[in-house]
Amino acid sequence: MILTISTTHKPATDLGYLLHKHPDKVQEFNITGGKATVFYPEANEDRCTMALFMELDPIALVRKMGGSNPSLSHYVNDRPYATSSFTSSTLSGVFGTALAGNCKTHPELVNQPLPLEVRLPTLTAKGGEGIIRRMFEPLGYTLAVETLPLDEQHPSWGDSALHDVTLQHTLPLQRLLEHLYVLLPAMDVSRHFYVSKADVDVLLQKGEHWLKDHPDKNLITQLYFLRIKGLANLALESLTEESEPTDAPELPPPIQSLHQLRLDMVLQTLLDLGVNRVVDLGCGEGKLLQRLLQHGQFQDILGMDVSHRVLQKARRTLNLETAGPAVLDRIRLIHGSLTYYDARWAVFEAATLVEVIEHLDAERLQTLERIVFGHAKPKHVVLTTPNREFNVNYEFLPPGALRHQDHRFEWTREEFSAWCTRISQTYGYTATLSELGQSEPDTGAPSQMVVFSKIDDHQQLPGAVEKI
Ligand code: SAH
Repeated sequence: MILTISTTHKPATDLGYLLHKHPDKVQEFNITGGKATVFYPEANEDRCTMALFMELDPIALVRKMGGSNPSLSHYVNDRPYATSSFTSSTLSGVFGTALAGNCKTHPELVNQPLPLEVRLPTLTAKGGEGIIRRMFEPLGYTLAVETLPLDEQHPSWGDSALHDVTLQHTLPLQRLLEHLYVLLPAMDVSRHFYVSKADVDVLLQKGEHWLKDHPDKNLITQLYFLRIKGLANLALESLTEESEPTDAPELPPPIQSLHQLRLDMVLQTLLDLGVNRVVDLGCGEGKLLQRLLQHGQFQDILGMDVSHRVLQKARRTLNLETAGPAVLDRIRLIHGSLTYYDARWAVFEAATLVEVIEHLDAERLQTLERIVFGHAKPKHVVLTTPNREFNVNYEFLPPGALRHQDHRFEWTREEFSAWCTRISQTYGYTATLSELGQSEPDTGAPSQMVVFSKIDDHQQLPGAVEKI
């Protein structure tokens, strides 16, 4: 694995002072599981390049950290070749002084923006070019990214998770090292180190000057802490507090999961529609039902699901075993299927289908359409489903993969809109579509929602859809 940092600052060999490594010397360092070598392939007035070359020995690594029962992947992996979390710890080990912003001989250089170029010829990022750009571009870098094929001999095997990346920016060297120190492990899903509470302070310190203003600070923090929510929240709370003016009226919650957001949007929509009787079709563990119960407006609530197991969980979520008559009068759970007409839920004013339709294959989806919109005909149907276009932003998802193994499909925004138009035209509904979650310029938001409202037979809406 090799990483280079170059500058064209004049004299370019100042880079040696800042990094505390003399351009004429080749220096070796012992690192976890191997050896790091620092040398300068070029060092003159106009351009100077420092190369960090790391040799990792997978066998030595297994001995050190493979645990008592190492698997094959501990021995056979791309660690010796890929820029990964190891690179980050090596950077802090080998260039600790520069990372801390110390330079006794040339203190004036520490805060001076320098034209810098970093080359990472084998950067691992499972989320591909998109995630690399999301990490570095907001910090002002110009990027060149080339995704490397899995095997040059077999182009049909597709792309690997490795990328040849060049980053260019004019900034203090210390800032550049901080960016690499935090962002390289965040992009590396097969991290070698574990995180603990002490790392919250490390992250806050290394990110002090830039992380709070990064538009993806939430994502970076969550990835850095391997999605360990407690630690990520802790760090995010500090970051958020620091970036808010002290008299800010209310701090936003540090992380709101997409699912919570979705449920809150559906709840708000039902409140706004003024409905009193709701059936949640495919209610799962009852998270929406729980929210509905908290609002007296909903007098008659029904949860239906095909799975006994999740209904039992819903019963627990809702504390139905111990609930008094005031609650039990308002809510019921039933076992049923969306692919059978069922008089028990066909009489409700509004129906919700939250992240359900994508679990049905095409034929069953058509049955659902006929039953829900053709037979039961609730006045309103509120439905959500993932937006497949957004998947490229999930760095854990291999290209083309769906979000959940039980999903039979995920629609693009256009496919969803076409389906909504067909439903509204066929069954006499208006359809109002909206995005759910933070929208990205190219991909839109992670999820999408539609509110169907029945056009009553005497109503003439401008441009109303065809009536059956
Ligand atoms: N609406 C819930 C659960 C979504 S997961 C939530 O947002 O949390 C999808 C749910 O649909 C699962 O609970 C699954 O059991 C249910 N489901 C799948 N096919 C179904 C069918 N044919 N009839 C009823 N429920 C179904």
